[in-house]
Amino acid sequence: MSAADPSPRGDSAAAGQFDVVVIGGGPAGYPAAIRAAQNKLKVACIDEWKNRDGSYAFGGTCLNAGCIPSKALLESSELYHRAQHEFAVHGIKLSSVALDLAAMQKRRAGIVKTMTGGITALFKANGVTAYQGHGRLVAPGQVEVTGGDGARKLLGARHVILASGSMPVQLKSVPQDGQFIVDSWNALEFDAVPPRLGVIGAGVIGLELGSVWRRLGSDVTVIEALDSFLPMADQAVAKEALKHFKKLGLNITLGAKVSDAAVRDGAVAVNYTNAQGEHSLVVDKLVVAVGRCPFTDGLFAPGVGVTLDARGFIEVDEHCHTKVPNVWAVGDVVRGPMLAHKGKEEGVMVADLIAGLYGEVNYKTIPSVIYTAPEIAWVGQTEEQAKASGRPLKIGSFPFTASGRARAMEASSGFCKVVAAADDDEILGVHIIGPMAGELIAEAVLAMEYSASAEDIQRTIHAHPTLSEALHEAALAADKRAIDSINR
Ligand code: FAD
Ligand code: AMP
Repeated sequence: MSAADPSPRGDSAAAGQFDVVVIGGGPAGYPAAIRAAQNKLKVACIDEWKNRDGSYAFGGTCLNAGCIPSKALLESSELYHRAQHEFAVHGIKLSSVALDLAAMQKRRAGIVKTMTGGITALFKANGVTAYQGHGRLVAPGQVEVTGGDGARKLLGARHVILASGSMPVQLKSVPQDGQFIVDSWNALEFDAVPPRLGVIGAGVIGLELGSVWRRLGSDVTVIEALDSFLPMADQAVAKEALKHFKKLGLNITLGAKVSDAAVRDGAVAVNYTNAQGEHSLVVDKLVVAVGRCPFTDGLFAPGVGVTLDARGFIEVDEHCHTKVPNVWAVGDVVRGPMLAHKGKEEGVMVADLIAGLYGEVNYKTIPSVIYTAPEIAWVGQTEEQAKASGRPLKIGSFPFTASGRARAMEASSGFCKVVAAADDDEILGVHIIGPMAGELIAEAVLAMEYSASAEDIQRTIHAHPTLSEALHEAALAADKRAIDSINR
């Protein structure tokens, strides 16, 4: 049976009748399928993702072209950069450091293959029937699967979960050819370091990709239409981040809107406008990283009752229920931050609700992470948002320069900041820029999930010397009781 065959792989479900059919096997869809199977429901998951070599793979954008390959390259490129610029400080002398991009890319591809293969194994272990092909809700309770060879099969489904994800936004005046003008997926798979790289968009994806190729030697220019940098982040963090990106050598041009770009003589000519007027730039490759949009092509038959909002997201309530009974939608295809962990929790919630269990997603405690160096992570309200709410605040900050562990790691840039309510001490937000910020934020998420106060963190013992002490000290600083830094 070929992988493209729409007949079931894994557990046999010859009847084609399921309790739950999930369309989309990304980080929102596959956890939904697994949890539904754990809930003793009969489950199928359909996914149409195809890699460059034409092979099907579960895992969606996240595993194949997003979170995982980008983190693999961020790690490798960071090690290369540190070997060149940091090892000497540690007293490690290297006669030379050379880049083997082919080996780096092979490692990235290997990680992706292992992780996506893992989903197939998880489906098998949990008894989820996996289909590789296109899924379409043709009527409530009926899903059609079309395999790579065009063969069709009708599945009966008591419940359907739509988890079709998102696609990169394209700019009409910047036509992509996949070679010179590319999307984020192409930009993860370059087989040579482009001497000059242009990136449109200083969002999370643009900054992560720009960092990778800058560290590997590209001259990188990031062009961003907005005047402000990282407007969704706490502005003290954004200011600190901009300083570090500039130090790395990323040329970030704010308030500059790309009007068009075209491939000419083996390079890309980019035109953009800023307050000073029109400008042009020539680069070897141009990455379009201007955001992502929900993907619903061919997902449901017209008239089935599923509705889209003005931006193309499937309309759902707070429990991810669409307007059609027993049809649900989760992940990037619905409102909310386009993040893998947000989709995962929605998928799990829906699978539990279908089984009659409790299910809820706390949208107030979804962490955001930017995996640059230093790393950036936050949860909850920024200082600006908390101030705008009018609630009296107390704010504590702790610099990593005062952290023994960060010093030992030669990674003492940045700080941890706690925003708490002055009246009842509730933690409203935590913002970290510094080493392992993406890991450190987990403690803050847990604290906020349990409605912890700053005092709760103050009274929690943190091992010494660890980076986690920064959160402890920032919570103490909110009451001007920090021990290891001067209270201001
Ligand atoms: P997707 O991952 O897009 O999966 C949807 C799946 O459904 C796909 O496989 C698609 O082929 C399939 N599908 C669609 N329609 C059909 C159909 N009709 N029939 C069958 N199959 C269908 N997020 C983070 O949280 N952390 C990160 O570090 C991070 N890094 C990223 C880096 C990059 C470069 C990019 C591009 C994204 C990154 N993201 C990150 C975002 C993250 O990838 C998405 O939020 C996440 O993948 C959304 O999950 P999803 O399951 O909703 O959709
Ligand atoms: P995100 O949505 O976080 O991935 O970020 C995408 C970024 O691209 C946003 O900050 C947009 O302002 C920016 N952007 C969108 N269109 C353009 C454009 N034509 N020129 C420059 N920046 C753009």
